[in-house]
Amino acid sequence: MTPRTQPTWTTTTQGPEETMALGEKCAALVSDGDVIALDGDLGAGKTQLVRGLARGMAVANRGSVASPTFVLMHEYQPSKPGGLVLVHIDAYRLHSADDLESMGFPGSAVDPLGELRRGAVVVVEWARKVEPILGENVLWVEITHQGPTTRRITLTGRGDWADRVRSMGTPAPSTRCPICKAGVETASQFFPFCSSRCKRVDLGRWLGGSYKISRPIDQSDLEET
Ligand code: ADP
Ligand code: MG
Repeated sequence: MTPRTQPTWTTTTQGPEETMALGEKCAALVSDGDVIALDGDLGAGKTQLVRGLARGMAVANRGSVASPTFVLMHEYQPSKPGGLVLVHIDAYRLHSADDLESMGFPGSAVDPLGELRRGAVVVVEWARKVEPILGENVLWVEITHQGPTTRRITLTGRGDWADRVRSMGTPAPSTRCPICKAGVETASQFFPFCSSRCKRVDLGRWLGGSYKISRPIDQSDLEET
């Protein structure tokens, strides 16, 4: 498969809430039988993204999402009839792809989807370990550390995910709040600040004389643009 058929979409998140919001965005794209693969080191934010998926899919018990530590997988049931189950697998603890097969993934020639995927979305942490058996139709999510609270996240649409990743359009240019450096959506009501608090801090600095200006203020500076 050439890279042209595998569109990518990259963003940078500042803090766990932004990574959850991306998970929520992915949840809006899922359908029955989907597979989402999460790749990234320990503490990258894979489970954080699953929390956002759970929130977006509105599954029951979404407040309790955690890495499956003592069991190989968790299942979160839909909170409404007709909703999809969220199956959360941590491949770190799998000994081999056989373990995944014994859970009913992938299916067989007579039942290609397999028992595990039917009526569900399967999200796999440490997907690299089981990549060959995940199949062709995968949303591949790669998360890398950029700093203590900054993560670079790239989504790659493989197979039937390609059009869905294309539909996400161009990622919004990342803007930083001038006060606390958090990421700010351009649509934010406090833009370019992240919150009313940072907006007030900025005003306080102006009034307190912390900011220097290199020319006198003239009338055009005071007019609304
Ligand atoms: P993983 O499942 O990849 O091992 P977790 O999601 O369990 O990682 O943990 C990620 C940790 O990093 C959490 O403690 C979270 O609060 C923290 N964190 C800091 N910044 C971010 C960010 N931008 N995105 C996701 N998690 C972040
Ligand atoms: Mg985890």
